[in-house]
Amino acid sequence: MSLEDASENLSRRVGCAIKPSDIMGLTFKENARMISRLADLSDAQLVDSLKGLVARGRAVTAQVLVHLAEVEHRQLHLAAAYASMHAYTTRHLGFSDSEAYDRVHAARAARKVPAILDMVADGRLHLTAVRLLAPHLVPDDPLELLTAAAHKTKRQILQLLADRAPKPDAPERVRRLPSPRPKPDAGQQDLLAVASADPPQPPPQPAARPEPPRPRPSEPQPLGADRYQVQFTASAALVGKLAELRALLSHREPGCNIATAIERAVDTLRADLLKERFAVGAKPKKSPTGTKKSRARTRHVPADVRREVVARDGLRCAFVDPETGRRCGSDQRLELEHHVPFARGGAHDASAMSLYCRAHNAFTARRAFGAEQMALCIAERQTTSTNQAPRRARSADSCRNES
Ligand SMILES: [Zn+2]
Repeated sequence: MSLEDASENLSRRVGCAIKPSDIMGLTFKENARMISRLADLSDAQLVDSLKGLVARGRAVTAQVLVHLAEVEHRQLHLAAAYASMHAYTTRHLGFSDSEAYDRVHAARAARKVPAILDMVADGRLHLTAVRLLAPHLVPDDPLELLTAAAHKTKRQILQLLADRAPKPDAPERVRRLPSPRPKPDAGQQDLLAVASADPPQPPPQPAARPEPPRPRPSEPQPLGADRYQVQFTASAALVGKLAELRALLSHREPGCNIATAIERAVDTLRADLLKERFAVGAKPKKSPTGTKKSRARTRHVPADVRREVVARDGLRCAFVDPETGRRCGSDQRLELEHHVPFARGGAHDASAMSLYCRAHNAFTARRAFGAEQMALCIAERQTTSTNQAPRRARSADSCRNES
């Protein structure tokens, strides 16, 4: 069954069950009346009604997958200034991270195997199942695994996948953990809580009081207006290097704690990367071939141009959706982009260039050259990268904006 056929089936199923007014036109009062009407239903009627709604919801979900797949295929998320489908589904459509994660992956899988849509619509597969199963589907017979996973819970599906493709034993790991946790001395305390000032110690919790859900450990937790707690597990090597760094800094900053040492190291690395990627902080050189005309002959973007673009765009993707005025603003994998593609005579001129994330740089290149030409370029570049030294490969990567 093709994606179009599957989508049409779903439309018929959903169309007769849900009208937009059913879900969008209800006012607060109408919702309140509905709640009061539910009180008049018998238990059996209530359960029947619930089952009907869940069934309709599943059918709608399958339709959402079809739409998401088509939006990604047309790259409408990029046009709307979102660097990824995840950003589009969370920020534009309002899904949570996990909802977006499942839907985007399920939509991609359904585009390849449209039978997934029917299985989602009739409840044989939930979205997490589709996301987990997708990488394991065999192109010749994807239905075999999908059928085997029908009506299974997430845990059962993980077991099914593990049975079919066992993973090697986890490597043995020896980790020294405090048990019970001793009161840390000044140095150890730095490892547990890295902040610009010593964080206040929380009052002891009563034993019977349930512990609140723990936030993800990798995310800095705010302690105050300008202080955060950052917790992570460090290797012995890192602990040793930090101790050495503090010793080296001791003549300059006596009593320097680990937070300060890390900040100094981060400052240094940040400056190095800004200089390497965008020539920020590099000393201007006088080049004998420094005219704009001669610059256009090489793909290397001059340092002063890189500096100017970065100073103007501020280390954020500057792609803007012309219809809404929304700016992407991603700070990931930033690259320089020529408004007129370099291959078509675009000059290394800051006024004719922008800082784009990789997704939007590729998006504008595809718009300029077409998807087919871009696929050829990427394949060619991948061949070059595997045949050349790593340094050359990095160089090719940094020149993605040649388009
Ligand atoms: Zn972007």
